[in-house]
This record gives sequence, C-alpha cells and structure tokens, in this order.
Amino acid sequence: MDFTLTEEQQMVREMVRDFADEFLAPRAREMEESRQVPREHIAKLSELGLIAPIVPEEYGGPGMDYLSYAIISEEVGRVCASTGTTIGAHCSLCCYPLLMFGTEEQKQYWLPKLASGEKVGCFGLTEPSAGSDAAGIRTLAEPDGKGNYIINGAKQWITNGSFADVIILLASTNPKKGIMGITPFIVPFDTPGFERGAVEATMGIRGSQQCVLNFTDVVVPEENILGGKRGLGRGFMYAMKVLDSGRIGVAAMSVGVAQGAFEKAVEYSKTREQFGKKLKDFQGLQWYLADMITEIYAGRNMVYRVAAEKSAGKEVATQAAMIKLFCTEMAQRVVDLAVQIHGGYGYCKDYDVERMYRDVRITRIYEGTNEIQKNIIARDVLKKDPKVWY
Ligand SMILES: Cc1cc2nc3c(=O)[nH]c(=O)nc-3n(C[C@H](O)[C@H](O)[C@H](O)COP(=O)(O)OP(=O)(O)OC[C@H]3O[C@@H](n4cnc5c(N)ncnc54)[C@H](O)[C@@H]3O)c2cc1C
Repeated sequence: MDFTLTEEQQMVREMVRDFADEFLAPRAREMEESRQVPREHIAKLSELGLIAPIVPEEYGGPGMDYLSYAIISEEVGRVCASTGTTIGAHCSLCCYPLLMFGTEEQKQYWLPKLASGEKVGCFGLTEPSAGSDAAGIRTLAEPDGKGNYIINGAKQWITNGSFADVIILLASTNPKKGIMGITPFIVPFDTPGFERGAVEATMGIRGSQQCVLNFTDVVVPEENILGGKRGLGRGFMYAMKVLDSGRIGVAAMSVGVAQGAFEKAVEYSKTREQFGKKLKDFQGLQWYLADMITEIYAGRNMVYRVAAEKSAGKEVATQAAMIKLFCTEMAQRVVDLAVQIHGGYGYCKDYDVERMYRDVRITRIYEGTNEIQKNIIARDVLKKDPKVWY
C-alpha cells in the first residue's frame, strides 16, 4: 500500500495547519470559556472548504477525499477539539447521510447550504434512555394520513443542537418492527414544536455545544424522509453506516490532539530546568517522548490507511471501529504523559495540555463507546477467517 500523500493532500495539510496555528490556536481557550465555536469561525472554516470537505463540487463543496478529511480533522484537533467536534457533527453526521442516502432533490437543496456554512447541521440518535442501545429509541413519528408525520420525543447530547439549522433525526415510524421500524427524517429547526434545552456543562470540548432537543407534535411532510420512500424503516441501518464513517473523523481528531499535546511536551521539556538540567535531558522523560511519538505514528498510519481505503470505496466498518478504539485510547495515554511532563503546570489552566486532557476524554465515549467498538470488532472477527486482516 502506498502511504505517500498526494500533492493536493499535502497542500490541504499545510493550509489547515497554518489556519489552525494562526486562527484557531489563539482562540481555543476563549472558545472553551465562552462555551461556543462562534458562527464567524464556521464562516471562516467554510470559506476554506473545511466545514464539509467531503461534499462534492456539484453540490457546492470542495469535493475532497476521506484522507483529506482525516488530515483536516487531525490538524484542527491538534489545536482545538471543540472546533473538530463541531465540524464532525456537521460534516460526518449531517452532510454524509445526506450525501449517501438523500434523494437528488434533498442533496440539491441542503448540501450547498451546509457546504457554504449558511446552515449548520446535526444528528439526533441518542435519547435519555437509549445510548449504546440505539435500537431502543422511543421518539415516535406517526403518519397523519395527510402526507405528514407527527414527531414526539426527545433527543439528548446533540452536538450543535443548540444552534443548528437542520437535524438528521431518527424516529420510530413503527415500534412493532423494532430496528426495521426506525426512519430517518430531515427536520429544519424552524419547524414549530421544537424546543432546545440548555447547553450541557461538559468536562471538555466546552466550545462545542450539546443539548437536549424536545419535539412536541412537530409536523414534517413525508418528503422529508431521508432518501424519500426508500428511507422508510431504513433509519437504523443508515445511522450505523453514518457512525462507521464518522469514526474515521473521531480517530483522526484524536491523533491530532495527541500530536498537539506531544508538541507542547517537547517544547516544555526544552525550556524547564530541574536539578540544573533541562527536562529533555532526563532519560525517563525522553522515554515518555519516545513512547508518545511511537504511539502517534502507529495511530496516524492506521487512520490514513482506513481513510484511503474508504476513499477507494472499500467497506471499512470494522477497521473504522479499530482505529476509533486504538486512536482514542492512544490519545488519552499520550495527553496524560504530556500533562505529566509539565508537572504541576500541566494541571493548570494556563497550559494547553490541561484543556487537551479534558477534551480528549470524550473521544472514548461519543460516536459509540469503546466497549461498543470492541463488540463490533469481535463480532466481525469471529465471522471471518483470521487471515483476512492484512
Ligand atoms: C459530548 C457528547 C456529544 C455527543 N454527540 C452526539 C450527537 O451529536 N448525536 C447523538 O445522537 N448522540 C451524541 N452523543 C451521545 C453518545 O453517542 C452516547 O453518549 C454514547 O453512545 C453512549 O451512550 P450513553 O451515554 O447512553 O451510555 P450507555 O449506553 O448508558 O453506556 C454506559 C456504559 O455501559 C457500557 N455499555 C453499554 N452497552 C454495552 C455492551 N453491550 N457491552 C459492553 N458495554 C456496554 C458503555 O460502553 C458505557 O461504558 C454525544 C455524547 C456526548 C457526551
């Protein structure tokens, strides 16, 4: 397998890295404190083609491949996981399902607005009593006999939900059919009956916003079923495919957070002195740095391979679970060592590694917890010849 980035992918990397260092990094703390990724940041990301990179040119996007998207998630995650999470919810969880499953009309209408940042999207699967067990959702969408569905229920933890313009919403149109009765809807937020809850007080990624969404007699026409009539009863299957793909973005962002923390640790070890020596001259800390970069290198290569395979049209659901599992656990270990290398200062808000330590924690939980990733991997591994995993 060729691991060389194309000239275009290298240019994407340089462009995002410059933008991340010059624009996002100096504002990362401010975003955390003000609890938002401001709309003008979203406009800037859109101008550069970073808010919905995978949207093809025919729908107003930059038409990048998945490896370029992974590079963007990584470079943004390196300095600001709140921005990375905001992009992930918009691109992986809203644009991607529209692109994959939407009717031509739905794509033509929504994708240009989402790619330009004029509209922000989100994805509503989780409910107060249905997290990992997503098949247990209770939000109901009942036909009114006049070509509409009436939606009642609540969604929880919806990233971007507090300010988004549109949601890909999973609701049951036939509870007796279980997962085969779940249907995806495109619901604009200006539909009456919506209520957005307060922004949740989270441990990390505090610039990205999550909230509860309540739906009371929200009326949507049947044309808003994602994929039209074909989408009826296919919501669970679509949601699982969306998450399979989204996990590449989470894994890439985690590699970025780890890289960001590693860079901070190297820098700090070259300036701080103890016992008359720079920290970098203690072999124990050199070994920490060696472990950190080795793990990052492994994670990055895994992500790039899976992203390249996805771009080539290969089925990579299990591999996406593997990289989500490995890279998020890896990033947690790396950021923890970065804090350790900073000593007491690493525990203080004046240093970026303190924020990174809190930010990285969520990556082991959202888009399917790591326990669920292990279930996905184990299920597939036991079905297949052990020799297929090359
Ligand atoms: C910051 C944030 C952003 C989010 N954004 C979104 C979003 O935009 N849209 C959306 O729909 N959802 C979103 N979520 C929801 C997220 O995907 C869920 O929190 C996650 O899937 C876990 O569900 P839960 O929190 O209900 O935990 P639970 O499912 O209750 O799990 C609790 C524990 O039990 C374990 N567990 C559960 N089942 C099993 C099993 N079968 N085997 C082994 N262990 C198991 C879990 O791994 C976990 O450790 C977000 C969550 C957070 C915190």
